Amino acid sequence: MTHDAAVQKAGEIASSVLAPSAGQNDKAGRFSTEAVQSLGEAGLSGLLLPANFGGSGLGPRTFAAVTATLAEADASVAMVYLMHVLGTACISAARPSAVPALTPILEDIGAGRHLSTLAFSEAGSRSHFWAPISRAQRNGNGVRISAKKSWVTSAGYAQSYVVSALAPEGAGPTDSTLYLLRAGTSGLSVAGPWDGLGLRANASAPVALDECGVALEFQLTEDGAGFAAMLNRVLPLFCLGSAAVALGLCRAAVRGTTSHLKNAKFEHLGKTLGESLPTLRAQLAAMQIDTDGLAARIDDLVEHLEKPRETTLLRVLESKAAAGDVAISVTATAMRTCGGAAFSKHLNIERLFRDAHAGAVMAPTGDVVREFIGKSLLGIPLF
Ligand SMILES: Cc1cc2nc3c(=O)[nH]c(=O)nc-3n(C[C@H](O)[C@H](O)[C@H](O)COP(=O)(O)OP(=O)(O)OC[C@H]3O[C@@H](n4cnc5c(N)ncnc54)[C@H](O)[C@@H]3O)c2cc1C
Repeated sequence: MTHDAAVQKAGEIASSVLAPSAGQNDKAGRFSTEAVQSLGEAGLSGLLLPANFGGSGLGPRTFAAVTATLAEADASVAMVYLMHVLGTACISAARPSAVPALTPILEDIGAGRHLSTLAFSEAGSRSHFWAPISRAQRNGNGVRISAKKSWVTSAGYAQSYVVSALAPEGAGPTDSTLYLLRAGTSGLSVAGPWDGLGLRANASAPVALDECGVALEFQLTEDGAGFAAMLNRVLPLFCLGSAAVALGLCRAAVRGTTSHLKNAKFEHLGKTLGESLPTLRAQLAAMQIDTDGLAARIDDLVEHLEKPRETTLLRVLESKAAAGDVAISVTATAMRTCGGAAFSKHLNIERLFRDAHAGAVMAPTGDVVREFIGKSLLGIPLF
């Protein structure tokens, strides 16, 4: 599959599957299994997966474009997709000794039959996902894991979970290991409902692990190498995908606001809102400027990921922080510009506004990212 074909397929699914049901799914907090199925059937589940597993072997540019396209129609589905791509990246980068056991799973992902996700955040260490409280215990050749994973996107719907836990003999708070747990593993259960302010249709519920047995061949990283995998493999793609979700939300807000300003009328003046009020035109313009600014930032990040250089990590972190702020600001301006029509939920703008608030609280949170950037500029160790 080429870049253009992938983006076109994402656009088709966005308009035929996501857009018609996004509002209802949001209201009901309903996970869209049909969206996941469509993405799989279109070959988008294995977007970054190497061709030998049936994937498309595409890169961050296509991932960002596809994710933004999905988010423009339904950010909940885009987040499910993002977490799946990250889970897949962890599985496909597993240590060589795990590859034979993981190959059928990777082939299922390539064939669009398997949804994965990340289960990093824990109730104890909250947004500090790099420091799990849980510790894997040796159990014959494998390990046993008990953990309270506090938010897991696609909880109960994913076929596998990439789980972090402290390595059995790890000495420090970041000496973690990544493991793959399949749905149906004894002791793995969804531990509560998901009733978020935004991204309501993505089942980001808590997951409990109670003495879950994991065989050695499902240990993805070497003991203690989970932290490096989180920082080097997951963080860049997560920040890029998160920025792409923000971009999709901003584009949807610009589109929705434009449509409202073109169609809603002051009948006593015989003009549309957009024709009548320069303030509304200025607010719409500000939204457009910020949205295009975010798109340019994402392009710049993609270039840095395609050709890594000294400034790449800085760009990764900056993009996460900036995207979260831009999405909140653009959707808040859309709420104000569309006034009571947005406030009383006659438009989809308020869903975008609620969804936009997730980016800044998803780890690494906007505050933590700023801490990292500030520390790195001052030469202070991050951890
Ligand atoms: C919709 C959604 C989906 C999610 N999906 C997943 C998932 O699939 N997998 C997963 O592992 N996790 C997931 N998460 C969890 C997420 O990544 C965070 O771990 C979680 O939102 C943290 O929330 P908290 O309030 O417990 O964080 P807290 O750590 O309690 O943060 C509270 C506040 O303190 C600030 N803060 C914390 N540390 C610092 C610091 N060092 N410096 C400055 N400020 C700081 C934060 O920015 C925040 O404002 C999801 C969360 C949401 C909302």
